[in-house]
Amino acid sequence: MTDAPPIDVAIVGAGIIGLATAYKLAEAGRQVVLIDRRGIAEETSRGNAGGFAFSDILPMASSGVLKKLPRWLADPLGPLTIRPAYLPELTPWLLRFWRAGWPDRRAAAIAAQSALMRLAASEMAALVAGAGLAHMVRSDGVLELYESEAELKADAAGWAARARENIGFDEVRGADLAALQPGLSPRFGVGVFVPAWQTVSDPFDFATAIGEAAMARGVTFRQAEVNGLAPAGGTVTLSLAGGETLVARQAVIACGAWSKRLTAPLGDALPLDTERGYNTTLPPDAFDLRRQLTFPNHGFVVTPLTSGVRVGGAVELGGLKLPPNFARADAMLKKAKAFLPDLKTEGGKQWMGFRPSLPDSLPAIGFSRKHRNIVYAFGHGHLGLTQSAATGRLVADLLAGAPPAIDLTPFSPQRF
Ligand SMILES: Cc1cc2nc3c(=O)[nH]c(=O)nc-3n(C[C@H](O)[C@H](O)[C@H](O)COP(=O)(O)OP(=O)(O)OC[C@H]3O[C@@H](n4cnc5c(N)ncnc54)[C@H](O)[C@@H]3O)c2cc1C
Repeated sequence: MTDAPPIDVAIVGAGIIGLATAYKLAEAGRQVVLIDRRGIAEETSRGNAGGFAFSDILPMASSGVLKKLPRWLADPLGPLTIRPAYLPELTPWLLRFWRAGWPDRRAAAIAAQSALMRLAASEMAALVAGAGLAHMVRSDGVLELYESEAELKADAAGWAARARENIGFDEVRGADLAALQPGLSPRFGVGVFVPAWQTVSDPFDFATAIGEAAMARGVTFRQAEVNGLAPAGGTVTLSLAGGETLVARQAVIACGAWSKRLTAPLGDALPLDTERGYNTTLPPDAFDLRRQLTFPNHGFVVTPLTSGVRVGGAVELGGLKLPPNFARADAMLKKAKAFLPDLKTEGGKQWMGFRPSLPDSLPAIGFSRKHRNIVYAFGHGHLGLTQSAATGRLVADLLAGAPPAIDLTPFSPQRF
């Protein structure tokens, strides 16, 4: 045990959630030590698609997805696969996923996600302005592409749900579509343009810049693996690999897909799993990409970044340990070439990341079951970048004992 005075707040995990939380806490005048075993944004937050997907309020589980599931699962390189070796471990998560798609649960999840997204947009705007990062954000919307009017119609309920939440979008066809993105394959006859969607110049650069802004406000970074947290007598003792301990008044667990290892011994064995995603980053001149494009029925997106043109997405349910299957990244690149015929597919760099996913597509943001000086912030699935600043704000509220900016009941870590 160290004799040093306790740290004010220790955050475990320096992905985008831990980084934005550190920034928001430092802004609120807290003394923060941020701890990560690998470095700043070295895991999932490093290579994602870079979108502030404020309109993505629909949970993954839906009757539509469940209907498509057999077709997708039959294609080992399709938008959603399950690695057979992982199926036994995954089954309880899948059952909860199936239940999350029932209309009552789905409607509640949409309402909760919409509230979090409204906060995400305002808190991200404040973070970007406060940290001086406006030059890293593109505000040119997203274009979601469909191969037929029937395909668009099949998603009508989802677009209607967004309209009810006052999310703006326009259907585009013909010359309007070509003006938003020239060079599309003619098979894409209709799209939906969502103007409020934003993208960052590069997710790793953006996360690093938030880390630098946090450190300029007094946050310190410590590279270490945390093996456990032991709350006692109003403080939390963090055991580091190598035997050292740190004592903090309050602690935040923001370890993304790895968080369960630290929360389970505290009495919170959440159904956290990972949706593994893949991408390829091509050189910047690979395509004249005007804005982020998504292909909702193919499960991937194409993003213009300063580091290149990033093509990827997909969901692979395969846990944290199985080796990557980069044939998935190859398959998406092949499709992207068919959809954007002038795309130059040479010289790409492949990547796989671990989305931290709870079955109802909502993150866990709240106190640990037994200890009010430990807060959890993980499970953001496809939306961690988008929701990072909002999560930081909510964690800061909780640690200060202030009423949170939105109702956190739907995000309770104890909801399962
Ligand atoms: C292909 C793909 C595309 C995506 N596109 C988008 C997008 O466009 N927009 C969007 O909003 N989201 C997107 N996401 C999701 C987003 O990347 C994640 O939700 C987000 O990165 C999760 O952040 P995190 O901080 O929770 O986790 P991570 O970034 O994984 O960070 C967790 C950190 O905890 C550390 N850690 C774990 N255990 C310990 C321990 N015991 N001790 C110390 N450190 C520990 C790890 O080293 C890691 O750095 C995408 C994800 C993928 C895979």
